[in-house]
Amino acid sequence: METFDLTTRDLVAHLREQPSAAAETWQRFRKRAGDRNEAVGAFLSLADEAQPETAAEGVLAGVPVAVKDNICTAELKTTCASKMLANFEAPYEATVVSRLKQAGAAIVGKVNLDEFAMGSSTENSALGKTNNPWKLNYVPGGSSGGSAAAVAAGMASVALGSDTGGSIRQPAAFCGVVGLKPTYGRVSRYGLVAFASSLDQIGPFSRDVYGSAATLQAIAGHDPLDSTSLDKPVPDYLETLDQPLEGLKLGFIEEWLGDGVDDSVRQAVQQAVDVYRKLGAEIVPVSLPHSQYGVATYYIIAPSEASSNLARYDGIHYGHRAENCETLAEVYRKSRSEGFGEEVKRRIMLGCYALSSGYYDAYYLKALKVRRLVQQDYFKAFADVDLLIGPVTPGPAFERGAMIDDPLEMYMADIFTIGANLAGIPAISLPAGMTDSGLPLGVQLLGPVLGEEKLLRAARMFELAQPWHEQLPPLQ
Ligand code: GLN
Repeated sequence: METFDLTTRDLVAHLREQPSAAAETWQRFRKRAGDRNEAVGAFLSLADEAQPETAAEGVLAGVPVAVKDNICTAELKTTCASKMLANFEAPYEATVVSRLKQAGAAIVGKVNLDEFAMGSSTENSALGKTNNPWKLNYVPGGSSGGSAAAVAAGMASVALGSDTGGSIRQPAAFCGVVGLKPTYGRVSRYGLVAFASSLDQIGPFSRDVYGSAATLQAIAGHDPLDSTSLDKPVPDYLETLDQPLEGLKLGFIEEWLGDGVDDSVRQAVQQAVDVYRKLGAEIVPVSLPHSQYGVATYYIIAPSEASSNLARYDGIHYGHRAENCETLAEVYRKSRSEGFGEEVKRRIMLGCYALSSGYYDAYYLKALKVRRLVQQDYFKAFADVDLLIGPVTPGPAFERGAMIDDPLEMYMADIFTIGANLAGIPAISLPAGMTDSGLPLGVQLLGPVLGEEKLLRAARMFELAQPWHEQLPPLQ
């Protein structure tokens, strides 16, 4: 078997036995990334220096990683897939990147996304197309489409993404890999270009659950540079990963399998529930009555925060500056008109409207109240069950262009992922099946605040019983 087809668990074991193979492993992944980029388009930039000679100590010693291009790196540009930042070289490095390096990981390059992480298909990137490695005319999901595609295509063993409303879990499901959104505050956001600060969270993509556990191990923990990062000890996720959960009580969100959900998704989720039942879990039906308001709530709160966060791109503080302007106002107007794409402009307008005097109470404040109700549904559920299980998305990956002219339809597809962000809880997407036409399907597990350890252990139980993650896309 080729190194890049190994699961992260096997790759780490291989590099532990042969630390001197680290440099060659990195070269091979780097070459594969370059060779496959024309077909897949996952990478926006590739590292060109040779990486560590031997694998250092650390949970990711010698493991090649890809980093979403809204996370600052000192060596490579950080573009957010926007014309606004097309030439931005960050003067500092995100905490997660420093921690990856400390854990021995070797960066292969920076990967594509929807501009400023706004979108669900990576079609909003201003800098390139990313294709789903399973079917090249299908989208990889978004906004972390490049991260998911890079891992699925064996161009990196693990990747970092960011998840504001589903941007790790949804592309993971579309590309048949594992994707974990940690608890809000578990991972430092220092050096993540802000989209919606109260929702954003960085997390891992990997071929197997081990890879996500190891990556979380490397990046989690308090960071004095991020005042919202939690000052709570980080458990040893790898130590307990292989211990099955005894007496697991799993809440099944049956109402998420109603109208509008594709049969293939419904089947995959029901099969996953059966797998857990066979493994001895108690399955309890759970209702989240306010989750139906999640999309509406999110699309007020996220654009509101975005409109404020993106105010800094004025052509002077940051970003693209338009030429031949006569006045200061013209510098702002032209720079922002030229630098931002359609979707980003739409979000800024929605946000400014929702925050404007006269509408603030009706929209933004109302949304904050509904957010609390959505959150309370989850907290009530976790008083009774360990974890929740449900779909990640209403359907499998769709064809490029299928939804691009209908933003509302695209927004609706975030319905099952948004809740975890509104509530601040962790959730993981696992490979859980295949459609008849050969597209991967995912299942989602959600956990209580700081429940990552349980989530990973339950995920590992499923992966052992149903090794869907071993399937590789038919790329030549
Ligand atoms: N699809 C959602 C959006 O467009 C989520 C994006 C994200 O999680 N970054 O906002």
